[in-house]
Amino acid sequence: MTETIAPGNARHSSIPVQQAGDDASAARSATAIDDVAEQQRYETQLRQSEAVFHNTLEGILVTDEDGIVLRVNPAFTAITGWQPEQVVGRHAQLLASADHRQEEIDWVRGDLTSGPGFQREFMITRPDGAESPALVSVNPIPDPTGAVTGYVAVITDISDRVRAERALAESEKNYRLLAENAVDVVTMVDLSGAFTWVSPSSRDVCGYEPADLIGGRSTMTVHPLDVPVVEAVMARANGGESGIYHEVRILTAAGQYHWMAVTASNAVDEDGAVVGHITSARDIHDLVLARQALADSEHRYRLLAENASDVIWQVSTDGRLEWASESVTAMLGWDPGQVLGRMAEELIHPDDRYRASATDGDGHSGGTTAGRYRMLRADGSFRWMSLHQRSVHDGDTTFQVVTLRDVQEEVEARAELEHVIEHDQLTGLAKLPATLTRIDALLAALPKRPQGRTVAVLCVGVDSLKSVNEAFTYAAGDRVLITVATRLASVCDNPELLARGSGDEFLVVLPNLASGADAGIVADQIRLACKGTITIGGHPIEPTVSIGIATGQHGSRAEELVRNANLAKRQAKANGHDRYEFVDPRLANEARRRLTIEADIRDGLRAGQLVPWFQPIVELDGGQVVGYEALVRWVRPDGSLVLPDQFLPFAERSTLITELDFAVLTQSMQTLKALPPQMHVAVNVSASTLTSPDYLERVVETLSRSGVDPARLHLEFTETALLGVTDRVRDIMSDLAQLGVRWYVDDFGTGYSSIAHLRDLPIAGLKLDRSFTSGLAADDLTCERLAKALAGLADGLGLDTVAEGVETPAEAAVLRAQGWQHGQGWLYGRPAPLG
Ligand code: C2E
Ligand code: CA
Ligand code: CA
Repeated sequence: MTETIAPGNARHSSIPVQQAGDDASAARSATAIDDVAEQQRYETQLRQSEAVFHNTLEGILVTDEDGIVLRVNPAFTAITGWQPEQVVGRHAQLLASADHRQEEIDWVRGDLTSGPGFQREFMITRPDGAESPALVSVNPIPDPTGAVTGYVAVITDISDRVRAERALAESEKNYRLLAENAVDVVTMVDLSGAFTWVSPSSRDVCGYEPADLIGGRSTMTVHPLDVPVVEAVMARANGGESGIYHEVRILTAAGQYHWMAVTASNAVDEDGAVVGHITSARDIHDLVLARQALADSEHRYRLLAENASDVIWQVSTDGRLEWASESVTAMLGWDPGQVLGRMAEELIHPDDRYRASATDGDGHSGGTTAGRYRMLRADGSFRWMSLHQRSVHDGDTTFQVVTLRDVQEEVEARAELEHVIEHDQLTGLAKLPATLTRIDALLAALPKRPQGRTVAVLCVGVDSLKSVNEAFTYAAGDRVLITVATRLASVCDNPELLARGSGDEFLVVLPNLASGADAGIVADQIRLACKGTITIGGHPIEPTVSIGIATGQHGSRAEELVRNANLAKRQAKANGHDRYEFVDPRLANEARRRLTIEADIRDGLRAGQLVPWFQPIVELDGGQVVGYEALVRWVRPDGSLVLPDQFLPFAERSTLITELDFAVLTQSMQTLKALPPQMHVAVNVSASTLTSPDYLERVVETLSRSGVDPARLHLEFTETALLGVTDRVRDIMSDLAQLGVRWYVDDFGTGYSSIAHLRDLPIAGLKLDRSFTSGLAADDLTCERLAKALAGLADGLGLDTVAEGVETPAEAAVLRAQGWQHGQGWLYGRPAPLG
């Protein structure tokens, strides 16, 4: 006999389960069906219901009407540890926990007699005696007359959630310990309800001066919704009750409501007459918030469990969807017709496909695979689903049965719980353990080369926090910490790279620096950002921080970096506070040098010492000068000349490079005005200038102020800058090209440019890198071939060509023969001042 039943409750989509797998009885009912098509449909349904039974992620257990187990599915064994042969034929009560066995059996009986089915959380006893929590739904299986012939139980593993709850309870306990040692605000209220005395601690706990409260109504600081609570407590206290505990929201001087735990008692005079009440209040805001977070996630988890239902797919060996259960509409919004025939892989988020296909192998060889992936919904959004795939052999054919369960809420709830557990209650920042994991991941992601990039860990210690705690209270110290945390967050782009260390410490992680010395710049920004008066109880406090910097490469360990940064921080404190120190003295020197060079460049720009020199560009055929390239020179007041490689790298680390590029552009335009109208000037544009916020506006303005034809301005940028071409940059380039400006790719052949860029961007010409030209002189055959191929490419695309670094007539001859149109190099002239 076969029944179609709904395990769980009515909200589950109807999952057919074949009861008591005796094929003989199935065959008997089958003979009653005359129509062949009907029989086929019946068989398909039977096969699918079997597939569900075997492949769903929920444990299923079927009993007879007395509770004797008839069959269980593989997920049941996975969740509970019981093998089918250990349970079949025995009473289901062997799953109940030993301590509560009778109680639980009574529940089951009670629930089953009071309604059609039920759902409860149980501790399930495993074969080894251990217990694990599970959500269990039990439903009766009726026969056509409605009589109960057995039961089906659906078992969902909830041990992950229970573990998360325990961790939260643990952090709640720690918090309680902290709260127990915190400061109470004690007040006395007279019978009219006015404050007659307020303890000085109210300054630190809620920011009020006692004098400002005394004489006022005690309910004036209470949240309007909580006033009735306070009034009821006062009435009880008037009736003689004491020690009445309640939780209310109190308005702090900063204008925020904070949850406080309040205990109220009677105040009596010498004669025992009630003269008023004494209350003692304690800030429990964070605790209440944590509790609410737990309640929310619990609520969501329940919604999830109640609505859980599986989507089932049948996938052919070539990966196409052959059949999908109707629940695919409710869960993913697809009409089965929309997905049938599609590759199952297309419905997985592109970023998750690799993981899915990496585990796919097993599925084909008859095993099972499982994982969590984001699945595509019909509306284009994605939902997290747990996917379970299994090969099914049916005669000659093999197909995959895929079970999908929506775990979106669970993923979100878990992320939220993890957030509560991993973050510091006081500042909301990440705690150390989570941060160490993050640093290790950043280090591992760095390139392996020794001169590769760097991760820096900054240990930021608040100076003199101890004396704040001693002079005022811990609450005052907490306020300083919270303020500093906020100021740090204003400097750090990524809040997840900011953490609370122990005591007075914070950690700032800088991922992927080109040089460890760069961390000095950030450290100085942090040092300045943390300053600013904090007023506590009317007293001004001037916070400063001492910072230790440790740097690591691929292969370094997070714990070591944090420890070293901490040591350097102590050194910074010992050296007089309000400063930073590097663990590595070489980096300290480098950072200092860099700071002075940057300041020098800034001064040089302001004083007009950075000027363009001009190098001629000629026609290779005939040697006619067609224009000049502007190359920056730093002419010091003493007349000495500094070449770009001495200072450009430093300018490029900051926004100075943009100012430098514009200084050269502006001066070059003045020079250009004086040149014959057929000549151009080529100006270099660095990648960061190209992406600077108002680049387009500034170039247009410079052009119009100079009054020269924009077509006489060539802008050179390197192939490497093309790597970062965004739609915005593309638009800027096109806008300038529309005006007539001509774009040239500099150092062509050395970077990573793709031919597609040459086609899609408004490029007017290419400049062959000098290394090719010198290769020609050295009879380097590869160089020669490449140079020739590049000339052909440029010709095919209709681009102008300039060969750089031409030093000899022989080089010029080869280049000309290869088809290069223009040349630039010492053969024709060195960079020099013009006009
Ligand atoms: P670049 O744009 O590739 O400029 C050509 C460099 O090759 C110049 O070096 C030039 O003096 C040198 N050069 C020209 N002909 C020959 C030759 O025949 N033989 C040899 N050995 N060298 C030759 P320079 O002036 O030292 O400039 C170096 C780099 O600095 C430039 O390379 C460019 O990338 C950058 N640069 C110069 N001025 C600016 C500027 O105003 N802004 C920006 N962003 N970068 C600039
Ligand atoms: Ca150039
Ligand atoms: Ca060049």
